[in-house]
Amino acid sequence: MEKLIKLYKENLLVTNCPYCNSTKFKKHGKYKFTHRYKCKDCKRTFLPSSGTSIHYIHKKELFIEYAEVLKKEGLSSVMKMSKRFNIAKLTSFDWRHKIFSSIPQQNILFKDEAFVGDISFRFSQKGRRGLSKKENDINKRYFSRVLNTTDQNINFVRIATVGNLNAEHLDRVLRKKIMESCKLLIPEKDAFLKFTKNNRIDKKVVHKDVSVYLKHRIVRYYQQLSSKIVNFINYELKGVSTKYLQGYNNFFITKEMQIFDAMTTKYLCQKFVWRIFTQMEETYKEFLDLHCEAKYSRPIKRSWKRTKLYYITQDNILY
Ligand SMILES: [Zn+2]
Repeated sequence: MEKLIKLYKENLLVTNCPYCNSTKFKKHGKYKFTHRYKCKDCKRTFLPSSGTSIHYIHKKELFIEYAEVLKKEGLSSVMKMSKRFNIAKLTSFDWRHKIFSSIPQQNILFKDEAFVGDISFRFSQKGRRGLSKKENDINKRYFSRVLNTTDQNINFVRIATVGNLNAEHLDRVLRKKIMESCKLLIPEKDAFLKFTKNNRIDKKVVHKDVSVYLKHRIVRYYQQLSSKIVNFINYELKGVSTKYLQGYNNFFITKEMQIFDAMTTKYLCQKFVWRIFTQMEETYKEFLDLHCEAKYSRPIKRSWKRTKLYYITQDNILY
């Protein structure tokens, strides 16, 4: 109980209304060991935990421990965690993804020299029931393309499409992150060439030849980082569903940079976690429909309360 009280006191700060983002709110009675608040603009009432990763979690103290294990020991299987914490398998799965959904977006801006390349993972519909053999055969043709951009200090890893990668995909994910002063090292691939040309980005093409590109320290670093991600996704986890791939990317990068800690103020003050988490299926569908060759099929239906009410900015939407 102490940990939870401390969390409410020190980490779950109230700075804005989680629904309309207004800064005009007032205390509105007591609730357990905290206060309820009321927004003066949208008139909704809320708690310091509303919309955060611990929102609607009944066993909050256990959840804190779960997050501590992720920080200290890294990821172990949903099943193992469900046994260790004596919770249902689905709860264990949900907790993992609520925590992933609370990972704050880094402030990404590349100023100097950076390398961008793409990593491919098999398109995975893991967890989706009722896929026909034909659907499975078609799905096997597709790969998720994850852009990995790094200058050795900032690592930005983001899924861009499922299918062939083109300049528009790069545009959508990367354009706003590249400053005018940045020199971008790119592989000799059409999508990258077109992207840099269209946006007049200063570029240098790195040849495929290993002996050439391994001379460059940023490219070497990129290569190491990419292998680690591939190892994490394909071997440690034996593949993940494409729907959750970005969550795993975010977890991997923050672990790698040693900044993962879901029980800190920064993570706990993200008031749109509930929205990201409950809207995951819709977000994923929209991503496939609008930006990918692969087709969305066999919806996973679960129902949630008040999901779209929470305020979110475009930058925080994962796909
Ligand atoms: Zn409000």
